[in-house]
Amino acid sequence: MELTRAHNSLPDIAHRAAILCLHGVIAHSRDPEVESEAMEIHHFRRLLKLLRRSFNVIGLAELVAAIRERRSPPPRSVVITFDDGYVTHHSVVAGEMAAMRMPWSAFVPAMLIETGGRQWTDDLYLLIHRGSQRQIGFCWDNLMVRFDLHTPQQRQDAVFRIREACRYLPEPVRVRRLQELYDQYSLDELQTLRARYADFGPMTWAQVKDLIAAGVDVGSHGLSHIALAPQDPDLVLHEVAGARELLMQRVGAHSPHFSYPYGREASMSPVTEQLLLEMGYHCALTLEQNAVYCQNQNLMRLPRLIVGPSVGRILFVLWQRFIR
Ligand SMILES: [Zn+2]
Repeated sequence: MELTRAHNSLPDIAHRAAILCLHGVIAHSRDPEVESEAMEIHHFRRLLKLLRRSFNVIGLAELVAAIRERRSPPPRSVVITFDDGYVTHHSVVAGEMAAMRMPWSAFVPAMLIETGGRQWTDDLYLLIHRGSQRQIGFCWDNLMVRFDLHTPQQRQDAVFRIREACRYLPEPVRVRRLQELYDQYSLDELQTLRARYADFGPMTWAQVKDLIAAGVDVGSHGLSHIALAPQDPDLVLHEVAGARELLMQRVGAHSPHFSYPYGREASMSPVTEQLLLEMGYHCALTLEQNAVYCQNQNLMRLPRLIVGPSVGRILFVLWQRFIR
């Protein structure tokens, strides 16, 4: 409550905005290990109410236009974005945002929508935390690496280390490393787990079309959700141009907004920036944790603030970003 009141007296700082990045919002109680990043719906509703009371929720296009035209957006402007094209963006988020009449952006990895595929990072959480193995091993760069998976802490550490060891790699190496994980579980087990955690599934194209028809800004999150910078130039082009082509084929026009998969420094480069500009994108969103300082903001590297499960945490971060 302290923070809630603190937001009521935030100063009007010109040329400042924040872009929030959410992933999952779920309509059931959170499994704190597997769904560690997801926000439960009652927390999401509380967040939206607080944003409505103390901030100005604007669309991404409005913020981009203000930056391009060197105007200040309204004071305490916040943009709401969702990455990864999860089915809950259609089944949960869309209704909540419509009820609040708030604009928002959804960034979809086109090939996962096309194939109904899962992200390997989500499979990683499922297999490590809820799979049957109590020990797994990898051979990375000719070194055997073993993980004990008996306690929640060991499993959490294993998820973290495997994710970091696979995230920013050239695609053939990542695929090889991940295959070692999948090989230690049966397909049956993986499919049972995926069915149990259906909220990690992607939207269908029909659902993406519903969002567009409802006025949601739908942008590209790459083709197959891989970090761009470590890849060969041909693969980078394939990921960016292929995503645009597939989106055009399946839903017609999409917005000129792009969100980098994984979004950290290691997933972008001057080459990716230049390519996105040449392909007509107006902005590219990162996960560098910062506010937007509109007067000297590179639109091809718009920072965002990640929203985890806790409303208090993101309110604190917003409060920090709008007082100095
Ligand atoms: Zn993503």
